[in-house]
Amino acid sequence: MSWEDKVRKAEPYVPGEQPNVKGMIKLNTNENPYPPSPKVNECIKGMDYDRMRLYPKADIMPLRKALADYHGIDVAKVFVGVGSDDVIDMAFVTFFYSDIPVLFPDVTYSFYKVWAELYRIPYVLKPLDKDFHIRPEDYAQKNGGVIFPNPNAPTGVLESRETVEKIIKANPDSVVMVDEAYVDFAGENASVLPLIDKYENLLVIRTFSKSRAMAGARIGYCMGSEKLIKCLEAVKFSINSYTMNTPAIDMGVASVADDAYFREHVGKIVKTRERMKEELKALGFTMPDGKGNFVFAKHENVPAKEIYLALRERNIFVRFFDTPGINDRLRITVGTDEEADKLISALKEILEGA
Ligand SMILES: *Cc1c(COP(=O)(O)O)cnc(C)c1O
Repeated sequence: MSWEDKVRKAEPYVPGEQPNVKGMIKLNTNENPYPPSPKVNECIKGMDYDRMRLYPKADIMPLRKALADYHGIDVAKVFVGVGSDDVIDMAFVTFFYSDIPVLFPDVTYSFYKVWAELYRIPYVLKPLDKDFHIRPEDYAQKNGGVIFPNPNAPTGVLESRETVEKIIKANPDSVVMVDEAYVDFAGENASVLPLIDKYENLLVIRTFSKSRAMAGARIGYCMGSEKLIKCLEAVKFSINSYTMNTPAIDMGVASVADDAYFREHVGKIVKTRERMKEELKALGFTMPDGKGNFVFAKHENVPAKEIYLALRERNIFVRFFDTPGINDRLRITVGTDEEADKLISALKEILEGA
């Protein structure tokens, strides 16, 4: 047996590309087009480099406390990590640990499958219905755990709190994770966070990467019963005690402290999203009534790949998934109003020439 036979084989997640072209319009990875709160900038400028000598606080208490206060929950119900990818990774390792398959939608965040494969967690994909909705009855069978984003990615489709609760209720014997990466764009009553006190097996996952415009800082967190968080902490401290770095912890606290800025900019993106949907429809696109910071659009007669490439030539980057079932669509991140205008006029040109 060679060393190569003893190596873990992995099929990695493929992130959206990070081109760096002058004057580009980058609408391909659901980043926020606005900068983070100015309080984050003050925090960076005020940083004392001598603190880099020391390890960060292992319990990440300042940020956990800020988040707990913000959401009005106990700090023992908050776990934070290096982006929600880190949090979800830890959660897979911790909570999906049986021989019974875990369940998630067939069209969803493609990282779930990567972790399941990496850790050899058995899983079954559940097809969405023709309108890209989750069918709650699919999750009412015996399982080793459940995860789905709400709103879903890359569709943007939001399930009601009632539907999500139906799924949680059907699963008292496994951990149900709701990945709320985009929930801030989905209105006041979209989150199932209030249900964590009712269901001790519910984990709600959030990120600073989208609505808080801090993808580069790598901050994510989840909330759930004290029991769930204890399980996560035990695994985390068995892998790496110091996941988050000191500047990220401080920047996270600064962001949470500026709620007015946060709400204002989420509101702007939602407004631009709704306008983008209307303008895309006028150009012959159809799309679900997406509630994230992106739209998932299909043109009635021009193939998605063709539009994607033509936009690319104009330095407008959107996401095209070459996956059966969704390769007739583009996922376009909602940018600023100016970026939306440029996108729409480029699309007009492209479609006229097609
Ligand atoms: C972007 C995204 C994440 C990961 O976000 P990070 O916090 O940047 O790691 C997780 N889940 C979904 C559904 C996402 O779209």
